[in-house]
Amino acid sequence: MLPTHMKQASQNLSLIGRRLVAEREGDLWQEETETLPWPLARQRRLYKNFADQFIRPRALEVDKHLAEFDPWPLWHEAARRGFQTEFLPWPFGTAKLLNLASMPSPLFATALKAEEFCAACGGMALMLLAHDLGMAPLLLSGTWTGFNWLRRIYSRIRAGENIAAAFAITEPGAGSDVEETEGAARARILSRAKKAPGGYLLNGRKCFISDGGIASYITFFAALENEGVESWTCFLVESPMKGFSRGRREKKMGQKAGDATELILEDVLVPEDHRIGPERSGWALNRNTLNYSRPAVGAIAVGIARGALERCLEFCRATRLGNKRLADYQDVQIELAEMTIQLTAARALVWHCGRYRLPFQGVSAAAKCFAGDTAFAICHKAMELMGDHGYLHGHGVEKAMRDSRLNQIYEGTNQINRLALIEDAWETDFARP
Ligand SMILES: Cc1cc2nc3c(=O)[nH]c(=O)nc-3n(C[C@H](O)[C@H](O)[C@H](O)COP(=O)(O)OP(=O)(O)OC[C@H]3O[C@@H](n4cnc5c(N)ncnc54)[C@H](O)[C@@H]3O)c2cc1C
Repeated sequence: MLPTHMKQASQNLSLIGRRLVAEREGDLWQEETETLPWPLARQRRLYKNFADQFIRPRALEVDKHLAEFDPWPLWHEAARRGFQTEFLPWPFGTAKLLNLASMPSPLFATALKAEEFCAACGGMALMLLAHDLGMAPLLLSGTWTGFNWLRRIYSRIRAGENIAAAFAITEPGAGSDVEETEGAARARILSRAKKAPGGYLLNGRKCFISDGGIASYITFFAALENEGVESWTCFLVESPMKGFSRGRREKKMGQKAGDATELILEDVLVPEDHRIGPERSGWALNRNTLNYSRPAVGAIAVGIARGALERCLEFCRATRLGNKRLADYQDVQIELAEMTIQLTAARALVWHCGRYRLPFQGVSAAAKCFAGDTAFAICHKAMELMGDHGYLHGHGVEKAMRDSRLNQIYEGTNQINRLALIEDAWETDFARP
């Protein structure tokens, strides 16, 4: 918008002054990518290329014709590029040592992946990403058993088998309760594990499990007989196992290509080596898994909002109102600037979590709820700018708005995440004398 002679004003600066000016050459995405250490910048480009090629072109069609969507071809394309086996480095998995060396936590790469996939489609992305959530307790248990299962599952994925994982804590009578300590103390946990010859007998029911409909491995949390949530223990349930079945697949408002399915366990005998971590370590393992996964959910929200903003921008550039483009009106520009600021702030908080060697509860919860609320507001604004076109299925903003609503609900509602932040910082900050 600036006249050329003003754009070139920095040429009048001294030699050193010119060196201190950021001459922008790329777009905002490129600029941000270049702030990353180069292995992660490269990784971000790989995720984006994949999403642009395999996810984005089918987003609207899959959302509309869900019954015809077969997740496995997309899954295998992602797995072939190593995107489904990233918790372990070679020879066990496909995590890149240079990525790990340039950022202390594997969370950073996961957040990059979540944003890129979700900018293309929240639903297909959820289908791919929920698998990482299912595998996380195996890694975070810090046990040989957990490592060994990861290694075995990854080798099956790399061999091209239809193998996915899911994470199961939610029960019909315990949703928020198992995401927050005070509620957990009162929770009515129905999933139970009882010692039996050779292992444990599991009984119970989990609901709303992402990838529950396709997972062959489920990290399943159950309380021990006659004890409360403090006895929670994580078990790896395999499908098929005798007594394991799947119930209803929920009809969802958004992120539709990822299923949310009920899982039913009736006297399922799991061998001793399927217990992930010691007995009664499940509550701590669940909390820590959420510390890693909540920033990733924040990144999902950022991705969906970015997708909505990109589509809104395309519309504002292509649509004429009076004698100029929508994008040329200053009041539209102010709205677009505000959306960009909000998006950048949400991403910055997610990336901030990824810079911790060990992400802790308060900062993870903050990223999850800030990004979730911000994303929904951005989608809403995008729809507003596009008028009746935003409301139609064809532009993708209506889908992004439906997709983004879920980020305020799963992994603990945003209210529960705010309480998680308070709980975490109560003694050190909020209740300090
Ligand atoms: C599509 C989808 C996918 C999901 N995927 C998974 C998955 O893969 N694995 C899994 O285990 N779970 C999954 N969930 C479950 C999800 O994490 C829970 O639904 C979520 O934690 C909310 O629990 P709830 O539905 O029981 O809400 P409730 O606990 O019934 O909450 C109802 C309302 O009360 C509020 N509330 C509750 N307690 C408090 C409190 N103490 N103070 C203030 N307000 C409170 C909540 O914020 C909410 O507004 C998924 C859910 C959905 C919808």
